[in-house]
Amino acid sequence: MSGFLDGKTIVIMGVANKRSIAWGCTQAILNQGAKVVLTYQNDRIKKSLERFVPDDADLLECDVSDDENVKAAFEQIGSKYGKIDGVIHAIAYADKDTLTSGLVNTTKVGYDLAQNISAYSLISVARYAEPVLNNPGSILTLTYFGSTRAIPNYNMMGVAKAALEANVRYLASDLGANGVRVNAISAGAVKTLAVTGIKHHSELLKESESRTVDQKSVTTAEIGNVAAFLMSDLSTGMTGDVVYVDKGVHLI
Ligand code: NAD
Repeated sequence: MSGFLDGKTIVIMGVANKRSIAWGCTQAILNQGAKVVLTYQNDRIKKSLERFVPDDADLLECDVSDDENVKAAFEQIGSKYGKIDGVIHAIAYADKDTLTSGLVNTTKVGYDLAQNISAYSLISVARYAEPVLNNPGSILTLTYFGSTRAIPNYNMMGVAKAALEANVRYLASDLGANGVRVNAISAGAVKTLAVTGIKHHSELLKESESRTVDQKSVTTAEIGNVAAFLMSDLSTGMTGDVVYVDKGVHLI
């Protein structure tokens, strides 16, 4: 099938299962004709992916907690595919205690871990992906509007998302001269594995749905379609942006 991503190769980091936002992105990007390479955190997730990922999508391990892993993954990607056209970073983590206690109770260890995986890793990904990215190239991350509002129970993750969004702007500025764009999608709440770590997540999901313009939550397919556009040459005029894909939740 032909589409606006024909001939492109896109690396997608963060598919854990079929509910993952990164899986919505993968399907939309495959629908538009690109080849995809999926990176996964560990063997447990690899086993989950092997049950549903199509044979023509390549899998590669990359735990972003160590820069050496990120470096090695993009070196491997470079030697196997030559140049690539885009990277989607759909990764976040905070340990349960950190995520479920108020920000005031966040320990230094919990803070560092959440920032490291959820925000710093985008810098590391950008640094090691840049040498293998084409001009034009595109990097995209996923954020949430708990970065600018004190959303109940989002706690430390809101702080990490604020840093992530600042990273987007500075990276866009650093990489722009080489034709690499860096953007974020601020997605509406959807029920994924990551969301179930948030205390009272059912209330958060219900509240979010009730604040959409039509009382229907955004889907991972809808988020994926915007991600596909941001990976494409249709979006070469956009960089350093946080694009809301939440059906108006942030308006209220
Ligand atoms: P998910 O649980 O499906 O995906 C999170 C991914 O992060 C998993 O694949 C996990 O393996 C990966 N990950 C965690 N630690 C890692 C590490 N050390 N190395 C490599 N990968 C690691 O959940 P999701 O909701 O699809 O999350 C994807 C992104 O979307 C996250 O950044 C999340 O904050 C963001 N987001 C989610 C929502 C939502 O409501 N679900 C809303 C806005 C933004």
